[in-house]
Amino acid sequence: QKEEWAKLKSSASITADGKHFDVAANIGTPKDLQAVLDNGAEAIGLYRTEFLYMDSSELPTEDDQFDAYKKVLETMGDKPVVVRTMDIGGDKHLPYMPLPEEMNPFLGYRAIRISLDRQEIFRTQLRALLRASAFGNLRIMFPMVATVQEFQAAKKIFLEEKDKLVKAGTKVSDDIQLGIMIEIPAAAVLADQFAKYVDFFSIGTNDLIQYTMAADRGNEHVSYLYQPYNPSILRLVKHTIDAAHKEGKWVGMCGEAAGDPIMVPLLLGMGLDEYSMSATSILKVRSQMKKLSTADMAKVAEKALNDSISNDDNKKLVEEATK
Ligand code: PEP
Ligand code: MG
Repeated sequence: QKEEWAKLKSSASITADGKHFDVAANIGTPKDLQAVLDNGAEAIGLYRTEFLYMDSSELPTEDDQFDAYKKVLETMGDKPVVVRTMDIGGDKHLPYMPLPEEMNPFLGYRAIRISLDRQEIFRTQLRALLRASAFGNLRIMFPMVATVQEFQAAKKIFLEEKDKLVKAGTKVSDDIQLGIMIEIPAAAVLADQFAKYVDFFSIGTNDLIQYTMAADRGNEHVSYLYQPYNPSILRLVKHTIDAAHKEGKWVGMCGEAAGDPIMVPLLLGMGLDEYSMSATSILKVRSQMKKLSTADMAKVAEKALNDSISNDDNKKLVEEATK
């Protein structure tokens, strides 16, 4: 078993029928990089930069951020690193940046909504990212995007900051993909339109499930509604994947579901390209993928999407099919 694990660590993620997928890691700080390397991640699919803001007693400076991003990019070399711009608000607060009291913080002033409103904070982060882009394979992702206009506004600000840096003679990569999290149902439903504008999607099931089922992800009284395999969730995921592929774009998933042994077979069957998870799940998922055929899983997914009325039925369906 130990030998098998060591081998898996340095091999690509390939299914029984020879298809290659990227199995990537989620990180919160550069301190997580050791686990990323130890588990042979093929990419970083989600770097949650809000921890940089939360672990500090004041707004992190451009240089503080540059150092952190550069460290992650340099460590990963050619491998892609998806950095998500800060996702503050909801349940994540900054002591030095008081946010308005809200009745529904998860439906409130959060993530890209703050970034587009408090642009000085956003521009500082983008400048730090642009400067760091010279040191690796950077991709930037915006969280909690609900409308195409929000993406376009964020992209415009990104291009303005890039232009200023280039004019000042700073070295920046000319090949930075810009993508969005698909974690608000509106974005999933409209994925065919979004796909014309973005370079990639990453599906955030943690929030997508909460918003689709209208069930707070942290509330135990409604946790029975937190259903990753519910056909409604699977249909949003499938629609998102198909919409992206139609425009030649790639789709990842960086919510907990991406590393879930029931979900992985369904996602393979639906054609998801990249699976991003906590580093400790990577070898388990890679080992599972080796045993699965995407053609077989496509049939299972088809059933789960079209022939099922419940989360539990779909769980049983996958268990039966992968036994
Ligand atoms: C998600 O919503 O699935 C996600 C990955 O983002 P976070 O858990 O940081 O909200
Ligand atoms: Mg989220």
